[in-house]
Amino acid sequence: MAVFEMRNARKAFGLLEVLKGVSLKVEKGEVVSIIGPSGGGKSTMLRCATLLETMDSGTLAYGENVAAREENGKSVYAGKAALAQVRRQFGLVFQQFDLFPHYTVLKNVCDAPISVQKRDRAEVEAEAMALLDKMGLKGKENAYPYQLSGGQQRVAIARALAMKPEILFFDEPTSALDPLLTGEVLRVIRSLADEHMTMVIVTHEMPFARAVSDRVVFLDGGVIVEQGSPEQV
Ligand code: ADP
Ligand code: MG
Repeated sequence: MAVFEMRNARKAFGLLEVLKGVSLKVEKGEVVSIIGPSGGGKSTMLRCATLLETMDSGTLAYGENVAAREENGKSVYAGKAALAQVRRQFGLVFQQFDLFPHYTVLKNVCDAPISVQKRDRAEVEAEAMALLDKMGLKGKENAYPYQLSGGQQRVAIARALAMKPEILFFDEPTSALDPLLTGEVLRVIRSLADEHMTMVIVTHEMPFARAVSDRVVFLDGGVIVEQGSPEQV
């Protein structure tokens, strides 16, 4: 069963049709890159996938959990409890990392697993330390985000991974970074790909998309114009 499936998603903002029937299915362990011109609907698609926006029509499911089904040409969303379950299945990393500035790095990573997932603090902290190490941020756990010269995006990735998502979405994770920091973040994402983390990555980094992806999807004008192996697309 697919980890993630969106079918025939449509979304308009007023008269502007941004998604015109987008379908995407992601299997366990797959890495899918989404590329395409600015304004093509990539962020809107990710925002619909991660329940930050509602689709006008189309269906959305994570494994067996249905977030939205379609009835009379309209998306009908599941109830609060079912959507809460769905939210546990994905993680999201934005261009702007949105760390809490008044929390230490460790607290940024551990806060949701402890206070939302109600997991054991000691266990979560131990896992967080291992994640920070993996992100190349060993020894930074007690720093505040502003004290990291760069590296915030890697904290954001650690924070998303701490929730143990089944699939991780990235929306242009490097577009706010300089080349050096971009390289570090891309290396981290590549190491996750090597471990077969299921990921959907919106990116402008074409050589990276080619190297890391099983599939590349080209989204333009609210439709998937082409998709296939990196060589094909
Ligand atoms: P991309 O991420 O591919 O650059 P977006 O999904 O951000 O594209 O935007 C697609 C189109 O939808 C753009 O024309 C954008 O201005 C418009 N748009 C996105 N979000 C909103 C919104 N909340 N309200 C109105 N228009 C929006
Ligand atoms: Mg965008």
